[in-house]
Amino acid sequence: MTTHFINNQRVAGSSGERIPVLDPSDGQVFAHLARGNVEDIGRAVKAARAAADGGAWSKLAPSERGRLLMKLSNAIAAQHDELATLEMRDCGKPVKQAKADATACARYFEFYAGACDKLHGETIPYTPGFAVMSFYEPHGVTGHIIPWNYPMQIFGRSVGGALAAGNACVVKPAEDACLSLLRIAEIAAEVGFPEGALNIVTGYGHEAGQALADADGIDHISFTGSARVGTIIAQSAAKRHVPVTLELGGKSPQIVFADANLDEALPVIINAIIQNAGQTCSAGSRLLVQASAYERVLEHVGERMRSLRVGPATMDLDLGPLIRANQLERVNSFLTNASHAGLRTLAEGSISPDAPAAGFYAKPTLIADVPPDSMLAQDEVFGPVLAAMAFDDEADAIRIANATQYGLVAGVWTENVGRAMRVAKAVKSGQVFINNYGAGGGVELPFGGVKSSGYGREKGFEALYGFSVMKTVVIKHG
Ligand code: NAD
Repeated sequence: MTTHFINNQRVAGSSGERIPVLDPSDGQVFAHLARGNVEDIGRAVKAARAAADGGAWSKLAPSERGRLLMKLSNAIAAQHDELATLEMRDCGKPVKQAKADATACARYFEFYAGACDKLHGETIPYTPGFAVMSFYEPHGVTGHIIPWNYPMQIFGRSVGGALAAGNACVVKPAEDACLSLLRIAEIAAEVGFPEGALNIVTGYGHEAGQALADADGIDHISFTGSARVGTIIAQSAAKRHVPVTLELGGKSPQIVFADANLDEALPVIINAIIQNAGQTCSAGSRLLVQASAYERVLEHVGERMRSLRVGPATMDLDLGPLIRANQLERVNSFLTNASHAGLRTLAEGSISPDAPAAGFYAKPTLIADVPPDSMLAQDEVFGPVLAAMAFDDEADAIRIANATQYGLVAGVWTENVGRAMRVAKAVKSGQVFINNYGAGGGVELPFGGVKSSGYGREKGFEALYGFSVMKTVVIKHG
């Protein structure tokens, strides 16, 4: 499909140029995308503006919007297999992961369908003779820039919230993975979304993405991606005084105290680093273990790591490939640097002999005794590499956990409730999980970061406040 989706129609790109799409499992080109530019973004913004400024979309009652979102949710659930197959090929996701992502996407639209008519304002006590009301109104047109790691999930959480609040949307998916989203936009049109409510322009970040961030008709930008590009987006938005939500990277700690229930902790800790081959913003990529339990915990984690298998998406093994060649190079460069620094590689999984040589496969790897200030403990690898380090006591654990530029998610594992709560409050991050870890899970749970992990919240009801603007109306009635 080499078209954008604007005003409920497939639309050819104005330049006619195309972007090849690779299957990460075998490195081969299997599709092409339209290479969107300023002109294409302009067309999409115009369509969305018409929908938001007096068009059919803006005239729907919140309950009617909710019904449309529910129809979309049901249709995504019904076409779950087709969507999962697209994303499996596009992102290299193992079948189970791709299906879980399609289910999560349907669930986002279900959640936000129910929220459309529940965004209440308030009445505010004021001077006698006056009545004051506040209303939540949509911004108008929201722009959404989506990364390649969870296209359907991030589209559902971002666009679902924005539509629920009454905005019309222009979406720029990642150049590496758009196919499922183009299909979902078509499905939205099929279930009755009015023209212009949901538009997609494909293309490169520095072209179509930058054009969207700079577009005059965009009233709010939701960006999910790297901290580096987040800075660029915020600067573009600042020039036009447009609010921004930034969902950026992470270096999330799993903090394991000596009294933790390891039977429960270990599978979750492993999953949090291998899910989506480690290409997850909230991946639990730092393993902090209390010194007295350190060797014991690492032995168990290592044993599980060695049993993990990597292969093409269709084989549905523990991990699929990484998204592209330079992502694999990035992961390998972290491993090379760790080895040059003399760090201990304690365990590795294995790549299936059936994996095509041209695919982008990385072994899950556990590295021990990683200094908390080293590159491996500080930078986001975005691959299946778990950096383990020991801590002495609660204060030491908190100090190490907070000693990165990021603050997205943290996991705390202990049977001591008081300690769990103290650590949860002291850790600087947007979410903390105690004796569980929900990388990406929980549609209902407000999500977002502090520090270089970003600001603003998506998911949950909280997202609706960000996708709205409050208006206060003051009446003098005497
Ligand atoms: P990226 O920042 O390179 O790209 C993200 C999106 O931004 C893509 O659609 C890309 O085309 C676009 N883009 C790139 N340059 C742009 C520009 N100059 N102007 C406008 N748009 C531009 O990130 P990525 O490599 O695709 O994704 C991985 C990063 O995303 C990781 O850091 C990861 O942690 C983060 N992420 C965060 C969350 C979260 O919810 N916090 C979720 C998923 C991924």
